[in-house]
Amino acid sequence: MTADEPTYLDGNAAAGAMREVFAVDITAATGQCAGCGDRGAFAEARLYVDAPGMVARCRRCDDVMVRVVSTPDSTYLDFRGLTYLRIRTPTT
Ligand SMILES: [Zn+2]
Repeated sequence: MTADEPTYLDGNAAAGAMREVFAVDITAATGQCAGCGDRGAFAEARLYVDAPGMVARCRRCDDVMVRVVSTPDSTYLDFRGLTYLRIRTPTT
């Protein structure tokens, strides 16, 4: 990796950790950034994993949208950077 390459992954990289909490594919969810109002698929977020947890930042304004920290007995979710997260439910 060179200094010019981004140090983040895309939101798809969160699938494994998020699957442990949600029984749905979170990368298919859509949300709205509380900072700038940008709407899009969670998979389009910029995911930083070189911290004590994962941080998903807005692709447009770079504000923190989601934080996920796992400890040996708990998972902490911070979604305050999202106005909403829409998870489609299967129809019967
Ligand atoms: Zn934003």
